[in-house]
Amino acid sequence: MPLDLNAPLRISEIFHSLQGEADTAGLATVFVRLTGCPMRCVYCDSAYAFSGGKKLTIAKILETVQPYDCGMVTVTGGEPLAQPGAFNLLEALCDAGYQVSLETGGAIKIDAVDPRVKMVLDVKTPASKMDSQQHYGNLDLLRKHDIAKFVIMDKDDFDWSERIAKQYKLFERCQVFYSPVYQKLKEKDLAAFILDSKSKARLQIQLHKLLWGELEGV
Ligand code: SF4
Repeated sequence: MPLDLNAPLRISEIFHSLQGEADTAGLATVFVRLTGCPMRCVYCDSAYAFSGGKKLTIAKILETVQPYDCGMVTVTGGEPLAQPGAFNLLEALCDAGYQVSLETGGAIKIDAVDPRVKMVLDVKTPASKMDSQQHYGNLDLLRKHDIAKFVIMDKDDFDWSERIAKQYKLFERCQVFYSPVYQKLKEKDLAAFILDSKSKARLQIQLHKLLWGELEGV
């Protein structure tokens, strides 16, 4: 059945910037930020996307993304999958030839996401206060090119992340990134945790925050 490109989604912003995270950090990317999130992580840096925004059809989103002439598109939030139309948006972006990634908080099932999409799946640690919302079945669906991302506040979070990553065999099945909570855990301390424990995780530093701090739309 053809996709309904007239279905509306609530969008906070669409902008062109450098990818700040994961394995494509530093590459020019168009970001499509969807409004709304059912979670409330204590360190959330995109609370401005919880409400507001404007309704755009999938066709209009494609029309807005196209002039950037950029092959990479990241669909983010908020929690993009909280809007059912996000699944069709992801498929439409793939059909249009973009290399598409999805940043998702992990509370909503990812099994219906187009398989061409690279998942960047948050695994919510205890310090986020949202670990009870995690849909752990998502972890079994991650593939080699997907990313499990743990945002880590302290050593307890680090030890928990190592336990979960080993329990779900994430180091063998996908890429695993550990990122420090901005201004709560020093990058060098997280680096030391990784080295001391001989972890196979990769340290992620949020490039966009180094470049631009906490500005919106960058
Ligand atoms: S899932 Fe993401 S957008 Fe939602 S509250 Fe947590 S950090 Fe913020």
